[in-house]
Order: sequence, then structure tokens, then C-alpha cells
Amino acid sequence: MANIGFIGLGNMGLPMLRNLLKAGHKVCVYDIVASARDAATQDGASSASEPAGVLEDADAVITMLPAGEHVQGIYLGKDGLLSRCKTKPIFIDCSTIDVGAAREVARAASDAGLDMIDAPVSGGVGGAAAGTLTIMVGGADAAFARAKPFLEPLSRLVVHAGGSGNGQAAKACNNMILGITMIGVCEAFVLGEKLGLDHDKLFEVTANATGQCWTISSYCPVPGPVPTSPANNDYKAGFTAAMMLKDLKLAQQAALASGASTPLGAEAQSIYSLFNAAGYGDMDFSGIIRFLRGN
Ligand code: NAD
Repeated sequence: MANIGFIGLGNMGLPMLRNLLKAGHKVCVYDIVASARDAATQDGASSASEPAGVLEDADAVITMLPAGEHVQGIYLGKDGLLSRCKTKPIFIDCSTIDVGAAREVARAASDAGLDMIDAPVSGGVGGAAAGTLTIMVGGADAAFARAKPFLEPLSRLVVHAGGSGNGQAAKACNNMILGITMIGVCEAFVLGEKLGLDHDKLFEVTANATGQCWTISSYCPVPGPVPTSPANNDYKAGFTAAMMLKDLKLAQQAALASGASTPLGAEAQSIYSLFNAAGYGDMDFSGIIRFLRGN
């Protein structure tokens, strides 16, 4: 079994760490929040008093942080992991961040002679707890091969999407589809209500016709048809509207930088911006149906 360093013990990081412990690995953790470190040590991890403390004897270091600036802060600079590193663990960043920042940090790792991959995840807190995340990886073949055994206890599928930053690129594309389709499905259900259609009937049709998609079949935004969807729990997240807005912004940032034309992605970002600005950032992103309905 291996020694793993783990930084970022939030909603996703803590359950991911638990699955690494369950797989028999020794894990040393760091988080800026002391109570998060305490929760991890109660589960059997050891804890460091600064980020570089997790490097000692580490075969792999996993980071699960909020955004690009946190990842740059942890890896780069004179106190960053890359300059404090005396051995050669594989670095795995599972945070969802912009493609540019992911490539910048990976380049710095490569310049220091270190292997690094970007490995953002899909599947939410439930998938993190169950060890059933889908993980999309960007990085060199050799780095991917080193990282894969550490990703397996966390996931049901690991896809090597290409070179550095391509994991983040795949995540941005996937979540842009998710944001757009959620709004489209919500609009259809609101239209159906106005036309006198029962939710169950519209679900039965669309889940079995050409409108079928994940947001209908697995995450239906009205109460009833899919018992596990947040619509049945007053739109308690789940995946928050704030997170969706963050991911749509990352997709638009990538579209701007690459010259891709993504008008529906831009519109989805605007709609989720309004929803967030109206005070619904903590609500599940499917709650946007209430906003579109006007209640
Ligand atoms: P979170 O805010 O719950 O956790 C982030 C953790 O990082 C916190 O414990 C925070 O204290 C810690 N942290 C922040 N700055 C730090 C620093 N400088 N050093 C050490 N620790 C630091 O976020 P989360 O929901 O766990 O999400 C983490 C990442 O996963 C994000 O990039 C998010 O976009 C992505 N993601 C989240 C979900 C989800 O459903 N929550 C799903 C897929 C991907």
C-alpha cells in the first residue's frame, strides 16, 4: 500500500480521502480549516501543519481545491509544493479549474522534473462517497499510468483525455452540456404545465423519445418521476447553482481563449448568473425551474 498526501478536505475531498483509507493506503492530509483536518484524523489519516508537510514519503499527492487560484497558490512559488518537493511523487489535481491554470501548473511541474496530471471529477458528493466518480485526465502517458492506481478506489471510470489540461477541457465541455440541457428541460416542463400536461406524462414521453437526456432520466427537475432527484427534496443540493455557474464560466473562459463559438453556453451562463444574483446560489441547479416558472 502507498503513502498519499491529500490537500483540500471539503465536500468532495473528505469522502474521497475515506475511500483511499478504505483501500488500505496511508494518507497524510492538509486543509486550511482545522476542523476538516480533525475529521480526517478521526477517520484514520495523519495530518500536516502546512501543505508541504504532506510531501514526506509520499508516492502520490492529490489536491481537491475550490478554484484555479488555490491550485496555483498550493503548487507554485517559493513555498509551493513543487519547490518544496525533495522526492518525486505523482501530483494529481482533482479540482475543477480553468484549462490555462491547469496547463501552467503542469508545465511548472514538468520544468521541475515532476509528473503531474489534471484529473477533475464528475459525480458529485454522492459519487465521491460511493467511490463511483467519473474522472477525466489530462497529462502524459507515463504520468497517467503512475496516477491510475490512486484514482481507481475513487471511481467507476477513468478516461485519459489527452495531454495536460485536457481533463479540465473535457469537464468544461461536459458541464456546459449539463447547464444547457437543464435549462432546456426546465423550459419544456414549464411549457408542458402551461399546456395542461401532467409531469408524469411528459416524463414518460421525453424519457423514451428523442428529447431523452440525463437531466430528464436521472435528475428530473420536477418532483415525482425520479425519486432521487433534488426536486423531491425542495431542491436541496445536490450540485449547487453556484457550482454550475462556476463551471459555465470556466467553459466560456475556455471558449474565449480558443475562439470557439458557444452561444448557448454563454446564454446558460447568463441565466445561471441571474439565478445566483437572485440569491439562489445554494439551491440545487435544477431549482432553476422555479426561476423560469417565475416562482
Ligand atoms: P469545498 O469548498 O467543499 O472544499 C474545498 C476545501 O479546500 C475546503 O475544505 C477548504 O478549506 C480547502 N482549501 C481552500 N483553500 C485551501 C488552501 N489554500 N490550502 C488547503 N486547503 C484549502 O469544495 P468541494 O465541493 O469539495 O469541491 C472541490 C472541487 O471539486 C472544486 O473545484 C469543485 O468545482 C469540484 N467539484 C465539486 C463537486 C460537488 O458536487 N461539490 C462535483 C464535482 C467537482
